[in-house]
Amino acid sequence: MSDGYETVIGLEIHAELSTESKIFCGCQNAFGAAPNTLCCPVCTGLPGALPVLNAQVVEYAVKMGLALGCHINTLSWMDRKHYFYPDLPKAYQISQNDRPLCETGQLQYLVGGQPRHLGITRIHIEEDAGKLLHDAATDTTLIDYNRCGVPLIEIVTEPDLRSADEAKAAMEEITRILLALGISDARMQEGSIRADVNVSVRPKGQAAYGVRNELKNINSFGAVHRAIVHEAARQRQILAKGGVIGQETRRWNDLEKTSVVLRTKEETHDYRFFPEPDLPPFEVPEKTIMALSAQIPELPATKTLRYQQAYALPPDDALLLAGRKPFADFFEAAVALRKAAPRQLANWLLGDVSKLLNEHRAELGDTRLTPDKLVTLVEAIDAGTISGTAGKQVLEHIISKDTSVETAIEMLGLKQVSDAETLNTLVNSVIRENPAAVADWRAGKKQAQGFLLGRCIKASGGRANPQVTASLLRQVLDDICE
Ligand SMILES: [Zn+2]
Repeated sequence: MSDGYETVIGLEIHAELSTESKIFCGCQNAFGAAPNTLCCPVCTGLPGALPVLNAQVVEYAVKMGLALGCHINTLSWMDRKHYFYPDLPKAYQISQNDRPLCETGQLQYLVGGQPRHLGITRIHIEEDAGKLLHDAATDTTLIDYNRCGVPLIEIVTEPDLRSADEAKAAMEEITRILLALGISDARMQEGSIRADVNVSVRPKGQAAYGVRNELKNINSFGAVHRAIVHEAARQRQILAKGGVIGQETRRWNDLEKTSVVLRTKEETHDYRFFPEPDLPPFEVPEKTIMALSAQIPELPATKTLRYQQAYALPPDDALLLAGRKPFADFFEAAVALRKAAPRQLANWLLGDVSKLLNEHRAELGDTRLTPDKLVTLVEAIDAGTISGTAGKQVLEHIISKDTSVETAIEMLGLKQVSDAETLNTLVNSVIRENPAAVADWRAGKKQAQGFLLGRCIKASGGRANPQVTASLLRQVLDDICE
């Protein structure tokens, strides 16, 4: 929008961690169980129950901090954040306020294949609350406490984002990093990632930020994008009419594409934070940080840039491969076997292989396809042993069966015929059987040659090498006309 205003956006992203057990008790951390079956006195906040911090939660959060280049606080503690809501039986959430585990980092993400950077203010750990389910039939609200005590990290960013596109791309990259680290399922549809989005608008060139509005609990990338576009336009309209923007917390309704006020500045919560008395401060030793640091893999954005540069892949393809570890590993193993054709291998993986996986609802690792087999297949097509179309049939075969590419070509009878003698016989018989087309060609209708070539390929059951057949056909036609 070039109306003299600039949009300023910051994110608060909540991600559920995929630890075995919950953050302060031994209850299983799982999605989809029958309501209120994964609970105990600790996570349902019964009086006298004592929390114990899950070390795996700390490790996972430190990993995310290291991946985002944060400073890790070796001494940290939990705080109580007080508020009342039916899904929070203790009437306080155990979170971190004064001393988050991780501070001041940076996210590298890509927009259109170009790197951008987003400051990370902090990452802290906390417990999730339960879930309210409204039953329309009986007009009652039910509470499922299974999610109480599920470990979360909250990632707070600097207000560095300037468009809905940037915000969406940054959030997608954070999701890819969570998956690459193996610390979260990052399933938005199950609510395991949610974002609060802070949006303000200011005249271009003005250093001070405008009054910001917070949009709570948005749970899809698309909805984040739509909510920002809507909110930025709403604020611009107010400013254009000479109005004043109030500081508000709003709820985005993605179905109706509107937002409504939840709270105004006057109603801001005082959470009355204080250090959690039931949990002592905890240390993360330097040697643990070093050990975790060694486990951080190459991040998806870095990998994408490498694929763009080293293999000349288009940005979108590079991102699709780099963002899915099984695909990235498969691609790199295949490229190591056949350095000449990275683009071809990427096209097979993102095209026909992905299509077959979707059809069978399978993952790459569930199939019989190996990098070695895919490379052999591509080589067979390049060498003219089989046609590209036949290659797709061979792929369907080798993806589900434990056979070699050679055996599959043999079994399916797809070996391409390039032998001149066989093809000459074929061409001559097609010419004999189609005198009308030959007459057309003589009369100057050159498209008749394409028709005759099609007949030759068809007569060979799709196995005639098109290039060799075309040149033979041309020769025979020229001979006839002399
Ligand atoms: Zn529990």
